[in-house]
Amino acid sequence: MSTLAQLTKRRAKFEEFLSARGAQIMQPTNEWEVLRFKSSKGVSIVYRNSKDGLTWTGESADAWNAFTDNQHWRGAPATKRPKNVEGHVRALLARDGEGCFYCLKPTDGDNRTVEHLVARSHGGPNHLSNMVLAHRRCNSNAGHLSVMEKIRIREGATK
Ligand SMILES: [Zn+2]
Repeated sequence: MSTLAQLTKRRAKFEEFLSARGAQIMQPTNEWEVLRFKSSKGVSIVYRNSKDGLTWTGESADAWNAFTDNQHWRGAPATKRPKNVEGHVRALLARDGEGCFYCLKPTDGDNRTVEHLVARSHGGPNHLSNMVLAHRRCNSNAGHLSVMEKIRIREGATK
């Protein structure tokens, strides 16, 4: 296990590591606490003892080992974002109107889908800036295309 000097040296990065994985960094409550954080399993604390050795409680040792070895660790389950399709449709209608991005004809009801211009599978964000409304059929026809190709379809429809 690492020494106080090693922990102190990498502390900022370690706290970043913890926060990014759902743990909450807390203020130490006394001089013997080097680090305190809260995960879904409770509070973990790293104490230093009078010889500058460290005592690791809770998940702190697991988390530190994962940090130093580049291993997987999570302080809390990844939060799943609720699917806000209805909200997206409303926002897109307000922004773009009811026309299909590809054929420009009105979309309606079950035939109206939210299309991600950069596919989610290619790292496209689940954000309005990456979304348009499209017919179910137009959406699936264009599913495999790049953004440039998608825009070309639209330009073809405008002529
Ligand atoms: Zn269409």
